[in-house]
Amino acid sequence: MKIKNVKVSTYSIPLKEPVKAYAAGMMKGFDIIIVKITDEDNNVGQGYTLTHVGFGQSILRIIEDNYKSILINSDSSNIEYLWKKMWTKTHYVGRGGPVSFAIAAVDASLWDLLGNRVKQPLWKLLGGYSPQVKVYAGNIDLNFSIEKILDNATINIEQGYKAIKMRLGRESLKEDISRVEAMRKHIGDDIELMADANEAWRVDQALKASNELSNFNLTWLEEPITPDDFRGYAYLKKNGITPIAAGENLHTLREFQELFSNDGVDFPEPDYTTCGGFTPFMKIAKLAEAYNLPVMSHGAHDAHIQLLAACPNAAYMEIHAFGIENYITNPLVIKDGFGIASDLPGIGFEFDFEKLANAKIS
Ligand SMILES: [Mg+2]
Repeated sequence: MKIKNVKVSTYSIPLKEPVKAYAAGMMKGFDIIIVKITDEDNNVGQGYTLTHVGFGQSILRIIEDNYKSILINSDSSNIEYLWKKMWTKTHYVGRGGPVSFAIAAVDASLWDLLGNRVKQPLWKLLGGYSPQVKVYAGNIDLNFSIEKILDNATINIEQGYKAIKMRLGRESLKEDISRVEAMRKHIGDDIELMADANEAWRVDQALKASNELSNFNLTWLEEPITPDDFRGYAYLKKNGITPIAAGENLHTLREFQELFSNDGVDFPEPDYTTCGGFTPFMKIAKLAEAYNLPVMSHGAHDAHIQLLAACPNAAYMEIHAFGIENYITNPLVIKDGFGIASDLPGIGFEFDFEKLANAKIS
């Protein structure tokens, strides 16, 4: 089925309250780039990618200036072919970074279009494993006081969450440890706890943290060091006590191959919005399976549920506090600590462009 029209738009959406992570700093909002593809039978697909504020329009331009001409009049169901064409056209400035974000939005839209056309939810089209994926709350931020992170944890537990992640990277390791200690005491032993350092440390500092944090039974320690120090990750996994999670800042299948082959991670966390879309996400998930590793996701839970529900090695899905659910039909249903993949066709939701109108920047 030939592609008739490609529409790209960008929106800058403020967060309900600013949040802080070590590497990204204070975040007051995010940019979302939405690609809407229509085929000659008027079937529609929608896909999106997310970035920090200030990058949305650059990503929109990559799609407008480089990918539209590839897509128009092409067969929308040849997703691998179109992915490779987009990759090859921008490989000189790409092989990761903004190009991976741009391809991700187009790729997600092509998959949604396919699902809508054949009237199947993506999790079934992609293989179909289980509609239930264990979730964790990822909204315990670095800038919040101890009182506030404990209150947020209480709210999460009341909402049915059985796993919670908090951020590390305060002034000293001592302060981080005291926050984790307070959190573990507050939530008890039956709620899983993860910690995300967002690249806060050198390798030696991360090793010390990994070992000191072992007193608190963390499920994982996430991104303790810069994301592409694969040797450093291997060292930490081999010598540290706390299991390691990483992946949200890797932008290609090859980077995941490097991480896995160096034995640098226990919990890989690809993010389709940063690694080129649903197509490479599924390859990364299967590569993880081949290494006998589980697969997680980072952010964008309303879309990731469709991917993880197709993976036999899916372990956890992060529930992000960006609030995209305010701008879509049929937001993710969470029940008893599990996200439930929708049986609606395609990605399972549509954007409400009227609600988004005030946030439009291009
Ligand atoms: Mg993270």
